Formats: sequence, structure tokens, C-alpha cells
Amino acid sequence: MNAITNHLPTAELQALDAAHHMHPFTANGELAEKGSRIITRATGVTLTDSEGNEILDAMAGLWCVNIGYGRDELAEVAARQMRELPYYNTFFQTTHVPAIALASKIAELAPGDLNHVFFAGSGSEANDTNIRMVRHYWALKGKPTKSIIISRKNAYHGSSVGSGSLGGMSAMHEQGGLPIPDIHHINQPHWWAEGGDMPEEDFGLQRAQDLEAAILELGEDRVAAFIAEPIQGAGGVIVPPASYWPEIQRICDKYEILLIADEVICGFGRTGNWFGSETVGIRPDIMTIAKGLSSGYAPIGGSIVTDEVAAVIGSDEFNHGYTYSGHPVASAVALENLRILEEEDVVGHVKNVAGPYLKEKWEALADHPLVGEAKIVGMMGSIALTPNKAARAVFASDAGTVGYICRERCFANNLVMRHVGDRMIISPPLVIKPEEIDVLIERARKSLDECYAILQEKDLLKSA
Ligand SMILES: *Cc1c(COP(=O)(O)O)cnc(C)c1O
Repeated sequence: MNAITNHLPTAELQALDAAHHMHPFTANGELAEKGSRIITRATGVTLTDSEGNEILDAMAGLWCVNIGYGRDELAEVAARQMRELPYYNTFFQTTHVPAIALASKIAELAPGDLNHVFFAGSGSEANDTNIRMVRHYWALKGKPTKSIIISRKNAYHGSSVGSGSLGGMSAMHEQGGLPIPDIHHINQPHWWAEGGDMPEEDFGLQRAQDLEAAILELGEDRVAAFIAEPIQGAGGVIVPPASYWPEIQRICDKYEILLIADEVICGFGRTGNWFGSETVGIRPDIMTIAKGLSSGYAPIGGSIVTDEVAAVIGSDEFNHGYTYSGHPVASAVALENLRILEEEDVVGHVKNVAGPYLKEKWEALADHPLVGEAKIVGMMGSIALTPNKAARAVFASDAGTVGYICRERCFANNLVMRHVGDRMIISPPLVIKPEEIDVLIERARKSLDECYAILQEKDLLKSA
């Protein structure tokens, strides 16, 4: 076979891709007909595709390229580490400097007494660790019946059998026999879609109290933990009412339920603090991390746990681990990423510069005829597309029809914005500059206008 390089014609690369590459979360037959978009390089917030288009990546890849593309420092560190020690494991009483340094740095950055890190290769693996860890924790404390983990419908916690079970995506549960036993899902605090006539804050409280009702129904002696994203990401950037999280914390405290904050998206600055838990004011026992930990430059994830959880788990051999737990190259890259976040005050940039600037422009999109609510916290935002704002109506077409049309207009206008059903979401690199935010908003508005025109033309502006 000839070398496959960036210099091959797009059509040839697409044909090879269709012939051999199975894409995640994709109808691969359909994609083969259409041809996938081929990204060839990237710098800052801008991707370049094989046709030479320059695309503003308002999703930071998959919510992960927080420091932006093309940072040479990370490449240098990876090359240096590969030469010095490309691999060694952390099993069998051994360790290495990159894992030591990264765990120490994470402990320093994490709030409270979250001082211990169990490394994994991804967010999914880290949540699988959490399932085993919280159940084992209660077994070690003499309460082996406490094995149920409560999660939420429409949550996303990963795609492995365990983490996909924790997640509340019905489309995932339909395939492959999920969920595993002893996972229980309660309703999400999604006021726009499910709040009906209730005031937002009352609704937030009610949805939090669903946790208490579930604990009482299942029995306190059966429940091990509650897991949630501080702000739901893949579910559609759903910002809970302010009343929600304090009530969840109260309930976890009252019934001694371990609280797991899945910080895979919210962690490392995205919400304007180091962790989303700080933004929503909670004290988790365990945090799941991945994505922004390395800004996506290397695959790495982990679980940060409190002194107490670490002490209990450490009292016995934990029969769990991954070949790549604390991988030296990924750890070195993550450490360099954290150094950049800290030294360049990227979190402060989100909180004081880019965040407020984007918030103002993003919320102004709510004046567009297609946009119901426009929500944003730090660098994660969403808009609800609707045929009738006052009624918070959904479209008569199948969910996602309109969102897909809008996303295709964004692509055509060189903007990566994702759709979740008929909700449009963004999660740009944290280092985005105000002038780049202007471009993002201009392209988003143009795409919304074009989407609106298509809906008029196709008579798709009807409410369900
Ligand atoms: C992406 C994501 C995961 C899964 O991480 P992977 O690295 O894809 O396995 C888990 N939780 C949340 C909140 C995520 O957004």
C-alpha cells in the first residue's frame, strides 16, 4: 500500500476511511455515502480541513482542547518523556516521576481534602473505577448491601459497559444490554424541557428532592453513591437552577451517600473555576477527571478522592487497575498542560475576560426568532431552538431534525457547533480571544438565519 498522507485527494482519503474506519456514535453506512470531513491540522481555535477550509472549533474537539491547538511545549514534553521513559507501569509497588508529579499537582489544585488520584486512560475508565471503588468502600466499611449508584436520565458518564450504565442515555441503553444491575436513574433538572408551569427555582428543588425520594424508596442501606455532572454536557449543556445543587448536597450529607462529581468536562477551568464543583458549591467525595486534564493532547483520566475514601480503600488490596494507569507520557503532557493553565492564568481568563464577553453575546442570541433560552456558564453554552418561545414548544418534526439542519449550516459557515436534539451547544477552547468570540457569534447568527429560512421553506416551523 502507498503511504497515506495529508497530500492524497480528499475523495481518496474518504473512500479509505469509509472502507476501513468505523466511527464512534455514527451511522457508518450513511457517512460512507456522504464522505467524512477530514481535519488535517489545527492551531489556536482554528481547524484546517483537507479542502483548505479554516474552521472555528467552538467545541474544543470533544470539550477537551482547553489550551487550544498547536502548543509546542506539550509536543516537546511528550518527545522528551518518550526518550527518557516511554512506558512503565504503576502496579506492583512501582512508580515513576511523571505520575508522582501529576498526582501531587492535581491534589494541590483540587479543593478540600481531595488529595489522592487513581489514574485511568479516559473518563469512561475512571467512572468504571468509581463504580468498583464506591461499592468496595462500603463493603470495607461493613455495609456490603450499599451497592446502588443513583444517576440521572440524560447524564453522560462515558461509553464503556459500566460508565454507559451510569449514564442515562436511553439510546445507549438500548444497545448491548445496558444498564448493569444496581444503577438507578432519577430525573434531570432540565427546566426548559420538563419544568412545565413551575418557577425555575421550585423545579430545581423538586428535582433535587427526587434524590431523597429515591433513597427512601430503595432504602438507605442499599445506596452507595450519587453521581452527576455539575453541569450536564453531552445531554445538552443543561444548567441546573441555582436551587438544585445545595439541596443535593444536603441530601447526600443527611443519608451519608458518597457524592461523585463527574468533572470530565467542567474540570480544569471550563466553568471559570478550577472545578465545576466550586462553581456550583458542592463538596464531592470523588471527582472524575479526563478531557481538559491534558487538553486532549494525550489520553488520560482519573478519579480524585478524599483522604477518607483513600484511607478506606487503602486498607485492603484494590483489585483494579489499567495498563496505562498513570502512563508516563500522558502524565508528563497533562502536567505541562496544567503548568500552562496556571502560569497563563487561563482560568482567570475564563472568569474575567472571555467568559463575561461570551456570556453577553451568547445571551443576546435569545432575541433570534428561533432561539428560546440561551444558557451559559464560563465556556459552556447552549441554546434551545423552538418554533414558539412563549410556550417553550418543541418542533413537530422528529427531535434533532432542526438541530441537524442548524449544525449543517454551521459547518457550511466554518463553525463547529454541535446539536443535541434541537439544542445547539458550544464549548470552545478556554483561551479563545474576544475577537474570536465575535467571529463565533457572527457565524452562529448567520447559521441561525439560514436555518430559519430553510425551516420556513420546508414548512418545519410547526409546534408539536
Ligand atoms: C466525555 C465524558 C466522559 C467519558 O470520557 P471518555 O474519555 O470519552 O471516556 C465521562 N463523563 C463526562 C461528563 C464526559 O463528558
